Amino acid sequence: MAALLGARIIASIREHFANAKVYMWTDSKIVLHWIKNNPRRWKTFVQNRVAEIQEKTPPEVWNHCPGCENPADKITRGLSIKNLVNDQVWWHGPPWLIQQNTFCVSSYDDSGPDTLSIASEERIINLAASAESVEPVLDIQKFSNLHKLLRVTAYVFRFVKNLRSEEKTVGHLSTDKLSSAMDYWIKLSQFQCFSNEINCIKCNKCIDKSSKLYGLNPKIDEKGLLRVNSRLVKSSLDVDEVNPIILPNDYFSRLIVLNSHERVLHSGVNETFIQTRAKFWILRARRFIKSILCGCRFCKKFNAYPGTEISAPLPPDRMEKSQPF
Ligand SMILES: [Zn+2]
Repeated sequence: MAALLGARIIASIREHFANAKVYMWTDSKIVLHWIKNNPRRWKTFVQNRVAEIQEKTPPEVWNHCPGCENPADKITRGLSIKNLVNDQVWWHGPPWLIQQNTFCVSSYDDSGPDTLSIASEERIINLAASAESVEPVLDIQKFSNLHKLLRVTAYVFRFVKNLRSEEKTVGHLSTDKLSSAMDYWIKLSQFQCFSNEINCIKCNKCIDKSSKLYGLNPKIDEKGLLRVNSRLVKSSLDVDEVNPIILPNDYFSRLIVLNSHERVLHSGVNETFIQTRAKFWILRARRFIKSILCGCRFCKKFNAYPGTEISAPLPPDRMEKSQPF
């Protein structure tokens, strides 16, 4: 109802300011999903309202604002005068909203001033990974090789960047671009499966005890990736080994496992597991890796047992009594 009210107000404002750019915000992810999808999927009450919202505002302009950064919540939840006077969110709105170019980045990556300095290409990645309603840039199911996926993704981001800027980039892909593509898929994969946990961490709340990540004590690093908060922080190991990146059991993790499996030259589950764990913490990894390796054609061919034939009957001269020589 609030989203509908907002859409109606915007429609009436646009009668006078036709060219004004519109950004809509809701703190309800459910509403956001309703608006971004086909209204026919919902029940009549929601369907009618979503249809009207979509008629008055394009679904792309709708974004998510986390509840803890929503100024409207201050008044509905109650706040003493003393706290209200000093409340930045109430007077100025969420910090990322007032900074130029960062307003599109929702709760998942509200890195604020840092976002200003990053390249526009990276901003696309942040945006795409932060809004859960955004479709992936590619259909990952069409790729069976991690390197190919990363290269194609990097080329897609370059294409988008070239369209938007005067300066065109050509030539070979740099490792930075490939690593940005990797970060994009990791973020997307994490956000699709652990959006509740990510929002809780962003809002400094405790993760639900029923969550699969509860025991891992996860944290979000400066790139916005979800990592395990291990006890090896003071060791001299590489950051990926100390705080491996958490991944769910999805198709992207499958590509990661297959890549690790190839790197250890099609060795067994343990070797693949160790190779994967050097950078990633896949949930229920051993079982997941085992299920993937069962389908590896290369391993199947080499681990296959030789065929057994039923022996033919013995010839008569080997069974009948006869004179030697
Ligand atoms: Zn294999």
